[in-house]
Amino acid sequence: VADTPPTGEFGLIAWIRARSQASAQVLVGIGDDCAVLRPTSGRSLLVTTDMLMDGRHFRLDRDGPEAVGAKALGVNLSDIAAMAGEPWAAVVATALPKRSAVAVAQGLHAGMRPMAERFGVDLVGGDTNAWDGPLVVSVTVLGEAGEGGPALRSGAKAGDAIVVTGPLGGSLLGRHLRPEPRIAEALALRRLAPVHALIDVSDGLASDLGHILDESGGLGAVLDADAIPIHADAFTLSAADGRPALDHALQDGEDFELCAVLAVDDSERVGQALPFIHRVGTIVAAPGLWLRDPDGSVTPLTARGFDHLRAETGDA
Ligand code: ADP
Ligand code: MG
Repeated sequence: VADTPPTGEFGLIAWIRARSQASAQVLVGIGDDCAVLRPTSGRSLLVTTDMLMDGRHFRLDRDGPEAVGAKALGVNLSDIAAMAGEPWAAVVATALPKRSAVAVAQGLHAGMRPMAERFGVDLVGGDTNAWDGPLVVSVTVLGEAGEGGPALRSGAKAGDAIVVTGPLGGSLLGRHLRPEPRIAEALALRRLAPVHALIDVSDGLASDLGHILDESGGLGAVLDADAIPIHADAFTLSAADGRPALDHALQDGEDFELCAVLAVDDSERVGQALPFIHRVGTIVAAPGLWLRDPDGSVTPLTARGFDHLRAETGDA
């Protein structure tokens, strides 16, 4: 039996509410002025938010609301993964295009729900608006740091190994709409070894590794060209645009793999235990970023991550 679509803002909220369930840590979910949550005592609370806008981060007419919903939740879960955290609850604020508000809201919800269930995230609230403008979706996710506290960007040390959790590049062919948050991977990594620094690859490996270097007191890194795992999509894109696949792997954003920095011994042990871990380079004391070719020659590498306040155009 097909659902009859809800009508009005309150009808829509009731529709969403009827589809949400709350774990024991959620004392009050959708329906009151605030959600009421009870964190695990002694654990740090993680909070992250990301806003996606039609025409910038997605195209509603091309991608559809379900993909947008999945992406909006997924990018936030990726930030929780990047702290080695466990996600817990989400709130979702929407500015819906008036003409198709209810259908778009239902589509967003349908896209978020499987991911929320898979990662144990309760939808505990939000805000619903409609206007003549394009779709804007803002998701905030709450989580808890795992045992041992959150993994920050700031703990890399000269001599450490740099690893990534999977192949990079070419996400614009479609993977950017389907982030696979590396929550379990981060927790597994964390269980096996101290993680000195951790970040998710949202702006491109060169750019995001640069954040680790900056936050760790101005260090540098040498990446090994032949060690970078390159995604098949990067080769496909390379064939179309003539840019080397390695360039896509280093510079493309929205891979949502994790980049971690570990002691070298730990990286070897972890690499044996976790097949998805690839060592890609080494932290060095001199600030800067370099690419080492198989013949040993080293060339400077500039990060071309997307900057919303600088670029005139872009897709990130
Ligand atoms: P208030 O005016 O007090 O903020 P609202 O009418 O905005 O209340 O929201 C009523 C309830 O529905 C709140 O619990 C709010 O968190 C929830 N809610 C509103 N919109 C959404 C949404 N898009 N997804 C989930 N919960 C929502
Ligand atoms: Mg409100």
